[in-house]
Order: sequence, then structure tokens, then C-alpha cells
Amino acid sequence: MTPDIETIVVGAGAVGLAVARALAIAGHEVMVLEQHELIGSETSSRNSEVIHAGIYYPPGSLRATLCVRGKDLLYAFCAENKVPHARCGKLLVATHESQLPKLAAIQETAAKNGVTDLEPIGGNAARVLEPELACVAALISPSTGIIDSHGFMLALQGHIEANGGSVVLRCPVERIEQDASGLFRLATGGDNPGAITCKNLVNSGGLHASKLARTLAYGDGYRPPETYYAKGQYYALSGRSPFKRHIYPIPDGAWLGLHATVDIGGRCKFGPDIEWTPGIDYSFEPEKLDKFLDFIRSYYPGLEAERLHPDYTGVRPKLYREGDPVPDFAIHGPEIHGQQGLVALYGIESPGLTAALAIGEVVAESLARRN
Ligand SMILES: Cc1cc2nc3c(=O)[nH]c(=O)nc-3n(C[C@H](O)[C@H](O)[C@H](O)COP(=O)(O)OP(=O)(O)OC[C@H]3O[C@@H](n4cnc5c(N)ncnc54)[C@H](O)[C@@H]3O)c2cc1C
Repeated sequence: MTPDIETIVVGAGAVGLAVARALAIAGHEVMVLEQHELIGSETSSRNSEVIHAGIYYPPGSLRATLCVRGKDLLYAFCAENKVPHARCGKLLVATHESQLPKLAAIQETAAKNGVTDLEPIGGNAARVLEPELACVAALISPSTGIIDSHGFMLALQGHIEANGGSVVLRCPVERIEQDASGLFRLATGGDNPGAITCKNLVNSGGLHASKLARTLAYGDGYRPPETYYAKGQYYALSGRSPFKRHIYPIPDGAWLGLHATVDIGGRCKFGPDIEWTPGIDYSFEPEKLDKFLDFIRSYYPGLEAERLHPDYTGVRPKLYREGDPVPDFAIHGPEIHGQQGLVALYGIESPGLTAALAIGEVVAESLARRN
């Protein structure tokens, strides 16, 4: 049987588009199917847009290696494709002496991840760089940056199309089957329901990846991982940004804390907090304002409450429940689930935007082995 198309990627977020680009450049005939009417309508447009250095993640993990590799690829891609970005740097700050051992431990972890450019400085030196900042010590991360995520995704779409691929919008994939010859048959809904077959399939459905994966029958007892949801909320600061660099507090477990980021237009925002929710919930909760004020004033004491305005929320696809150990990104190929030609991406939360191009490389290599 000849498939309608060689390779389908479900999901036109930053990761799905980066995967499709890598596949198209590797010579695949690629089609991206996206349920919404615009690319990047979900998590890829509801995040901090920070180009992460790769500081915090467990050494050797996919998060660490793909973040560090992805960061280098991303800076090069942005420069080549004129995607707005800035290598603005960040300060990771200790606001109390008791946090100093954690700061030192983070520097060690970063070095194991190959991030060797962190520079420890004292509170006074930090205030010379950022006069509005209150802290007792800090680590400067010069390779942390900021990106226009929409500009990035548009450039990825351009590469896909320039290499013969296509992005089809308003095309929700409802079910997947694999026939005896190994071809995938995707039932699609939307305005023009139908079906399409392909030889290779990448499930890059973000928050919905597990739900879609469960529609396919697997041999040998494989079960796709469950996705849980954790909302993050942002407040925007009106007027001039008090900071030139991003300001990050000491993380609390996997949560990086309410950080200050300066976007590509120079606008400062604070967030995201973390709230576990039973479903995908983008509602903004204004009653959280006091908690935000208390937290942010620990490193920015001059914050005036009336300058904070509700901004937006995003939802993290988590592969664990609140309080459980934090697993790595899950990139499930045939060696894990047994279905030839299928790669599924689960739990691609932060630093997925930074890692997108590196994830693309990994998936393209995995599918190249079959063709
Ligand atoms: C609050 C927050 C802050 C973050 N900050 C950062 C940061 O500063 N830096 C960083 O590197 N990362 C950050 N991240 C992580 C980053 O945003 C994500 O890792 C990345 O955007 C994931 O991209 P994606 O393509 O996997 O998912 P998505 O952007 O969610 O894309 C998935 C797409 O698949 C589509 N889809 C799903 N199911 C179907 C279906 N059945 N049929 C058709 N289409 C389907 C969806 O509509 C969606 O468009 C943050 C995440 C959050 C939530």
C-alpha cells in the first residue's frame, strides 16, 4: 500500500514545527496537521519566551542535553533567519544567606551540563548591574536570552514549506490506527472530516499528546504516559522595565519561581506561578495578586502594586502528579512502544521552546533509521 503522505506531524507548536522542519530538510515528504486555525495557538504562545541556558536540569537528562544543544541551534537559527531575539542574560539571585549553598549547587549542576559561563557575584555587584534589585548574591548567566516565539514559529513554517512540506490548519486528528502493512490511518474531524494515511507519524500534540496516543492499539502492554496539567499565571508591569536582564529567584523543586522577564519589546512581566488543575484551564485568577506582590518584592522591593496588570496564563504538560519525582522529557520511539514509524513526544514542558530544534534533530534521526 502506498501512503497518502510519507510523514505526518500532529501539532503545529514550536516543537512539532521544528520536528517537521528537520524531517523536511532530511528529505521526508512532510505534512503538519493542526487543530486550530493558527500555528502556535497553545503552549508555544503561552510561555516566558526565555532561551534557557540549561542550568537546572539533571546532568545527562534529555532536558539538560537538548536544552544546551537547542540553545546553540536556536541562537544560530535566529541570527540566520532574522528572528527577533536577544542574548540579554539573566541573574539568578539569592535573597537570603540561607540560599547561598543552593546557588553554589546550581552552579555545579550547570557546569556538569556544560554551562560553564556562570559568574558568581555579590549583592553590591548585582545592584551595580541592576539597581532596583535586592539580593545577597547572584549568578550571572550570559547565555540566557529571549525570543519572539511567534517569529520563530513562522520561520519554521517557512522552512517546512520551502522544503516541500505543508502545514494544514483546522485539522484535528481524532483517532489513529495502524494497519497490517504498518501504515498509519488518521481519522480527522473539523469542517471536512476524513482520513489520511502515512508511513511515519510524529505525535507532537503537547497537552493532548496522551489523549491522541491512547486511540492507537499497542502490543506488549505498552501504555502511553498520562499527562497532568499545571497552570502558570503572569502579570505584566506597566511602564519602563526596572531590569535589563531576566531576574530568577532560587527554584523551588521543578518550579523556577516567579521570575521577571524582559521580552523582546523591553516589556517586563512576572510569573509563572504554579497551580495543578484537573483539566486544561487558562482562567486568570486576580485574587492571586497579593501572593505575587509578596514574592516579587523579595527581590524587587520597589514594586508598586498599581503597575501590575493581569497578562495571560499557560498550562504545562506534566508527566507526574504534584509532589511526585520529576521525570524527564519522554520521546517514545519504536524501541519503547513497538510501533515502527511512530515517535511520540510527551511532557515537553520547559525548556521545550529552547530545545525545539534539538528535539527536531533527535526525531529526524530516529525516523531516518527506518527509511
Ligand atoms: C507557563 C510556561 C512557561 C514556559 N516558559 C518557557 C521558556 O521560557 N522557555 C522555554 O524554553 N520553554 C518554556 N516553556 C515550555 C514551552 O512553551 C513548551 O515546551 C513548548 O512550547 C511546547 O511546544 P509543543 O509544540 O510541544 O506544544 P504546543 O505548543 O502545545 O503545540 C501542540 C500543538 O498540537 C496541537 N494538537 C494537539 N492535539 C492535536 C490533534 N489531535 N490534532 C491536531 N492538532 C493537535 C495543538 O493544538 C497545539 O497547537 C514554558 C511552558 C509554560 C506552560
